[in-house]
Formats: sequence, C-alpha cells, structure tokens
Amino acid sequence: MSQFKLHDVRLFCVPNCFFAVVLFSAGALAAAQEQSGSAKAVSKGETNDQPNMEIRKVGFVVHGGAGTIERSEMTPEREREYRAGLEHALTAGYEILKRAGSSLDATEAAVRVLEDDPHFNAGKGSVFTNVGTNEMDAAIMDGKALRAGAVASLKHIKNPVSLARLVMERSGHVMMDGEGAEAFAKENGIQLLTDQKYFFTKQRWEALQKVKSAEKSGGGAGGKKYIITDQDRHGTVGAVALDQNGNLAAATSTGGTTNKRAGRVGDSPVIGSGTYANNATCAVSATGDGEYFIRATVAHEVSALMEYRGMSLKEAAQSVLDKVAKLGGSGGLIAIDRQGNIALPFNTSGMYRGYVDPNGKFVVEIYK
Ligand code: ASP
Repeated sequence: MSQFKLHDVRLFCVPNCFFAVVLFSAGALAAAQEQSGSAKAVSKGETNDQPNMEIRKVGFVVHGGAGTIERSEMTPEREREYRAGLEHALTAGYEILKRAGSSLDATEAAVRVLEDDPHFNAGKGSVFTNVGTNEMDAAIMDGKALRAGAVASLKHIKNPVSLARLVMERSGHVMMDGEGAEAFAKENGIQLLTDQKYFFTKQRWEALQKVKSAEKSGGGAGGKKYIITDQDRHGTVGAVALDQNGNLAAATSTGGTTNKRAGRVGDSPVIGSGTYANNATCAVSATGDGEYFIRATVAHEVSALMEYRGMSLKEAAQSVLDKVAKLGGSGGLIAIDRQGNIALPFNTSGMYRGYVDPNGKFVVEIYK
C-alpha cells in the first residue's frame, strides 16, 4: 500500500546550479496508522515538477523511553519539561537534515541533547546501579554501509553516543566497554569526567533507594508496599533519521535499569537488539526491558521481516513488539524506513516520543 500522496514538489538549486534535486515531502495517510515522518527539506527556488529528478526527502523521530507514564502522576510543569526536551532534540537533528546533513549527524546530535537533559535516563540523567554507580551504554549505526559503533558500562563519559560513533569510525571495532573504551576515548581527545558527580540527580538516587527498599521488604504479604514506576526503573533515549541522500541511521543511549548489577549491559548497545539501521529496510531504536529486547533481537528482526517477508515497517515493528510481549517484556521502539514512513509502537501506557511531520511541524507525544 502506498503510504504517501505527493503534495509538494520543489526544485532545489545548489550553488552554481551544477545539479538540482527535487525535494518532496510526502503526506501521511491519516487512515493508515503508520505515520509518515518524512518532512519537507529546505527548499529554495521555484516549484518545478520535472521528470528524471532525484527524489529527496528527510524524516526524523526521537524517543525518551517507554513505560508506565500516567497523566495523573505528571504535573503540568514536568510534562512541559519533558516535551521541551524532546523538542530540543528534534530541533537539533532536524536542523542538520534540513541543511542536507547526514542522518548519522542528526541522530548523534539529538541523542546528545537528550543525554544532557536530566529528565531522561541517559548521560546526565542516568539511573544508578546496585552499588550506586552510573554505567552507561550507547550505540549508533549507519544504514548505508552497515557500519556500527557501540559502547557499554561507561562511567566517565558525558556523551556516550559520541564515543560510540568514535568507536565506529576510528577503532576498527564495533563494540568496546568499560575502562578500555574510556582509554580509547581519552586517546581520541574526549575528556573524561574525573568522578561521577556529574551524573548525580536526586530523582534517580531516590529511585534507587525505593527499589532497594522494595527488594528488602520482599514486596510480599506484610511487607511495606512501594510504588515503583517505570520512571524509577528504567528509560532510554534514541533517534532514527532519513537524510536527503537516502541514508538511514539509528542511535540509542541509556543509563540502563535502576539497581542493575554493576556490569549488566542492556539491549541499547547491542547491534540488532536496541539499535539497527540498514538503507535497504529501516532504522530502529528501541526502549524497554532490555533483557527481553536482546532475546527477541528486536531491531534487526524489524528489518528482517521487511527484507525477507516483505512486511511494511508498521507491520514488522508491531509484530516484533508482540513477540517481546509474549516473552513477558514491555517497551517500545521508533523506526523509519527508506521511504520516510515512520512507526512508533509501544506496549506500555506511554512513551516519550516526537517526530517531524510532513509539513515540517514537530509532533511530541507522551501517552497512548
Ligand atoms: N532498554 C534499556 C535497558 O534495558 C532500558 C529502557 O529502555 O528502559 O538498558
């Protein structure tokens, strides 16, 4: 089924007019649940529908984690802060795409913004392990050449996603962890934080105490009841993009799960589980119970269902999420395909998410 109707075709002249490309933004079919995130790219000059022009469009989606997010538990002020965070991330990535920048740059830029925002469980706002440390995982993947970089169990890196990119581009490896990854960062000019104070947030610290108390009390009969929200337990940030050259990219970053054992690594940095991109199919960034997302090889499975079964992005994404649910896991994912169709399914009560609509407008949503 065609997901788009063409509603805007423009001629974009590059300096010196050596060549021109047609930028078009596609309209999402409202009836089709698969939402189109393809957005109008920068277009100057006159509208001109000419044959044999290359078709170029961009698409951009971000998430800030999925879980039990109830309207009743959210203050208006807090909600505004989350929305602003997602909008900042959309701005950072979309500005790059509009200027004909790469999907890799766009996803990295957006994830960095979310890593710097204490509201989200990545970078600055990372949750605590069972021994009171912060250990971060991240990954980035380039759908054009199937290149990928991933890092795990970082303790002193402000923006893990940028180290993941460095691993992809300069290490000759795909995945590095802990001290070795941080030594590699230092060698390549990334400044290490001297201690973990930067990652301390009251909210995450209190969440750790709550989870530990609940664990101690056993949560059973007679035990004190603690209300542990998903917000207390986990979260992740991610971005997927389609750039004007038709290249897809995905990036994901997380502090993992509250009270996780030191050394535990989730799905986010596992290529094919929490993060995957392939120009032939789609780009995916996942969030949720990492152990289940690893077992269901979520991100690659979405791509594989499209590649080998000919499923649409929406069908593939939903089908994989159903598989996660069957295993007992919850969460969500964001995905974009090479036509710019987007899918943002989740099986929790909410997922912090945002995308750029076909008119270049930012759409930010939290609840179901
Ligand atoms: N998937 C992340 C992890 O397991 C957590 C999350 O996305 O909520 O590390």
